[in-house]
Amino acid sequence: MKTIIISKKVTIFIISIILLLFFILYCHISIKKNEIAKVKDDILIVNDCDCEDTEKIEYEEFLKEKYNEKKLIALTFDDGPSKYTELLVNELSKRDVKATFFILGENAINRQDTLKIIYDAGNEIGIHSYKHKLFTKLKDDEIVEQISTTKDIIYNSTNTTPTLMRVPYGSINSRVSSVLKKEKLNNVLWSVDSKDWKFKNATKTYNYVMKNVKGNDIILMHDIFKPSVDAALRIVDKLQSDCYVFVTVSELENIKNSVKSNKTD
Ligand SMILES: [Zn+2]
Repeated sequence: MKTIIISKKVTIFIISIILLLFFILYCHISIKKNEIAKVKDDILIVNDCDCEDTEKIEYEEFLKEKYNEKKLIALTFDDGPSKYTELLVNELSKRDVKATFFILGENAINRQDTLKIIYDAGNEIGIHSYKHKLFTKLKDDEIVEQISTTKDIIYNSTNTTPTLMRVPYGSINSRVSSVLKKEKLNNVLWSVDSKDWKFKNATKTYNYVMKNVKGNDIILMHDIFKPSVDAALRIVDKLQSDCYVFVTVSELENIKNSVKSNKTD
């Protein structure tokens, strides 16, 4: 009788151990399942990030449409940076406008913080030379020096190497062109000269630009004059109210090229 009782206790003990082992195994599998589910969620989240590309494509499509409607504008500012540039950049940012700044090395050397402010706000920075010299009157190595000193200043402030150039006075010939090509620079001029350098008056500059501007234009202004800054902001407000969209010079060139290549496909 005693043996039977002991045997029963042993059986109950063994069954309890087996049940406990099953329970531990069940818990372990559940934890693993949760981990796998969590990883799946992470994968979904990563996949969700892919929509950034979709948004980018949509934005490009939007710009292409605007280009075809002749509703893009590239604002450009030469000869800075100056004491007015930061104000201009802040006001452009408030309006969600990006512009292109062709800077002079001799001004930028003492305003490297301003260069960073321009760049960090999403604007584009190009070279306008170091001392605003007529490139057609310079020797090749003098042109290279004007470029490389300014390029270094831009690189030191923004950690990027500029690819855009606007030669001073728009003065260019085949020799200067070949130097720029060797320096891997794309020279960009303008289609509307605001003549702000001549007027030095916000209303006159604004009226002159509004009379001459067309869609997909590149407008030339100078951020070294306060009236130019005032005029630029009035131009932006008016053109935005007429559904124009402001892009950098490179964005305008890229959209122009992609529309052209689509047409030839
Ligand atoms: Zn200039």
